[in-house]
Amino acid sequence: MSDKKQNKRNNNKNYDDDFNPRFRKQRKKVCPLCGDKNFVLDFKNADQLKKFVNEKGKILPRRTTGACAKHQRDITIAVKRARHIAVLPYAQN
Ligand SMILES: [Zn+2]
Repeated sequence: MSDKKQNKRNNNKNYDDDFNPRFRKQRKKVCPLCGDKNFVLDFKNADQLKKFVNEKGKILPRRTTGACAKHQRDITIAVKRARHIAVLPYAQN
């Protein structure tokens, strides 16, 4: 009886524990601006800002960049300024 129960549970398991996305080990992201004290966000520096936008030119969300709320705000303002002076594109394709 108990064996049957065990089998049923194992059959329902779709993922190996290591690959189950629901229980994936979460590593704490460190804000790229807080982590590096020498990092100065510059809206004229396109290469630097490209890390915070996707290939379409959209600003990446905080869950992707790992930035803290304060620095995500700074990033957003910097990207928008860069777009205004045509350093970054508003949209691609
Ligand atoms: Zn930060």
